[in-house]
Amino acid sequence: MFLIECPWCGKRDQREFSCGGEAHIVRPTDSETMSDEQWADYLFMRSNTLGVHAERWVHVHGCGQWFNALRNTATDEFVAVYRMDETPPGAHGD
Ligand SMILES: [Zn+2]
Repeated sequence: MFLIECPWCGKRDQREFSCGGEAHIVRPTDSETMSDEQWADYLFMRSNTLGVHAERWVHVHGCGQWFNALRNTATDEFVAVYRMDETPPGAHGD
């Protein structure tokens, strides 16, 4: 058991949260022209990173807000949390 820092509520028990999978998945703008294979790739194919990975999380048993997190998949360490409208820490050299 460990703590996850909700951007709105602060540190809370991990059992209050649910992971929504990989972050920063951009919905295609031209879905009408996509093949079934391209659509399936968008829906189901995700990276399987060993190390720091960007994920979407929701504080389901708290404020109900979604946020992004950088989590090390090897150690479960949360490197950073950031709001959905923010760029990942380090993406611009910060
Ligand atoms: Zn919260």
